[in-house]
Amino acid sequence: MLMRIAIAGGGLGGLTLARILHRHGIDAVVYEREASRSARPQGGSLDLHPESGQRALADAGLAGRFRSEARPEGEEHRILDPAGRTLVHHKPQPGSFSGRPEIDRSALRDLLLDSLPGDAVAWQHRLVAATPRPDGGFGLTFDDGHRADCDVLIGADGARSVVRSLLTDATLSSVATLVELSISDADRRHPDLAELVGPGNLWCIGVNQILAAQRLGDGSIRVGISLPADDRHLETYRSRRALLDMFDGWDPSLTALIEAGDSPPAPRRIEAMPTGARWTHRPGITLIGDAAHLMPPVGEGANQAMLDAAELAGELAANPADPDSAIRAYEEAMFTRIHPIAEMSARVQAMMLSPTAADDIVRFFTPRPTEPRPAEAGHTS
Ligand SMILES: Cc1cc2nc3c(=O)[nH]c(=O)nc-3n(C[C@H](O)[C@H](O)[C@H](O)COP(=O)(O)OP(=O)(O)OC[C@H]3O[C@@H](n4cnc5c(N)ncnc54)[C@H](O)[C@@H]3O)c2cc1C
Repeated sequence: MLMRIAIAGGGLGGLTLARILHRHGIDAVVYEREASRSARPQGGSLDLHPESGQRALADAGLAGRFRSEARPEGEEHRILDPAGRTLVHHKPQPGSFSGRPEIDRSALRDLLLDSLPGDAVAWQHRLVAATPRPDGGFGLTFDDGHRADCDVLIGADGARSVVRSLLTDATLSSVATLVELSISDADRRHPDLAELVGPGNLWCIGVNQILAAQRLGDGSIRVGISLPADDRHLETYRSRRALLDMFDGWDPSLTALIEAGDSPPAPRRIEAMPTGARWTHRPGITLIGDAAHLMPPVGEGANQAMLDAAELAGELAANPADPDSAIRAYEEAMFTRIHPIAEMSARVQAMMLSPTAADDIVRFFTPRPTEPRPAEAGHTS
C-alpha cells in the first residue's frame, strides 16, 4: 500500500525533503500556510556549507543549479568597531566554490519549488491540528476547515511549529531582539553604503549591540540590528530615532545604514529551544529543521534543516516498507548531530552580544599560532 506522507511547512527543510523523496519515487504533499511562493519576501542571504546545505542540494540533484545561482563573492566579510576601524577583513578566492557561497533565500526556495511537480505544494493550507487516528497515521485540520489524512506526518513548520507539540513540550526562550531594515538599489542610491558593505557581509560590533549589513543578489542591502533580549515592547524598536539614540557615539558612516532604510524598522524577537532537546519516538510522526531544533541564527539553521531533510529522505527511501524504523534512525542520528551545533550556536550568540564581543570575535576569527590556518583563511586583523 502506498504510504501517504504529509509535510507541514514549505520552507527550505520541507521543500528539500519533498524534492529528495520525489527523486526516489516517493510522493509527499507539502501543506504551506502562505498563499503562493511570492506571498511574502523570504529574507536575506544564506551561506550554504559543503557538509550540510550543499550536500542536501546534491542529494536533491540541484548542485548545478545552485552553482549558477550562488554568489561565492558574497563570502567576503568585514568586522568593524564602532569607530569604523577594520578588525577583520576576509576575502574569498575569486570565483571559488570551495567555501560557503551565499545564495538569496528567495532564489534557493524558488530553485526547490521549480524542481517539484506543480501539485506537490498545497498553498494556503495552515495546519491547525493533527489528531492521531485509531488505525495509525493522523487526521489533519487546516484553518479553513479543510481536512486530510496521512500515514506519516513530518513537521517542517518552523520556529512556532504546530506539529512539535505532539512530540515535546519544549518551550522557546528569547535570545535576542533583531530589528531589520532594507535599502534598495544601493549602488545607485547609496554608493557609500554599497562600498562599506561590499559584496558580502558587514558586522559592526559594539558593547552588547551589533549593526550588521548584508548585500543581496538584487542589489539591495539588508540591515540587521541585534540587541539583547529585553522586556521592552517591540514597538520601541520601530522608531528610527530611538535606534539612532541606541547607537549614539558610533561613527556616522555606520549609523547611515539605519538612516538609509527604505521603510520603518521591523523588529522581532529571536527565540531558541533548549539545547539538547529531544523526544521519545512516536510512530508515524517526526520533525525537521527549526521545528525540531530552533537555534540562535548564527549560520546553521537552514543548513541543518536541509541536512535533516536529506537524511530523513535517505532513510525513508532505503526502508519504504518500514517508515517507523526509518524515522527512528533519522531521529537518533539527528539528535546526536544537532546537540553540539546547538551548544555552539548558543555560545556564539552569547559572545556576539557580550561587552567583550569585539575582542572575542576577532579571537574567534584569528587562528592560534600552533594551529594550521583554517581552510577558509584570508582573515587579516
Ligand atoms: C535573521 C536570521 C538569519 C538567519 N541566517 C541564517 C544563515 O545565514 N544560515 C543558516 O543556515 N540559517 C540562518 N537562519 C536560520 C534559518 O532561517 C532557519 O533555520 C531555516 O529557515 C529553517 O528552515 P525550516 O524549513 O525548518 O523553517 P522555515 O524556513 O521557517 O519554514 C517553515 C515553513 O512552514 C510554514 N508554516 C509555518 N507554520 C505552518 C502551519 N501551521 N501550517 C503550514 N505551514 C506552516 C511557513 O510559512 C514556512 O514556509 C537565520 C534565521 C534568522 C531569523
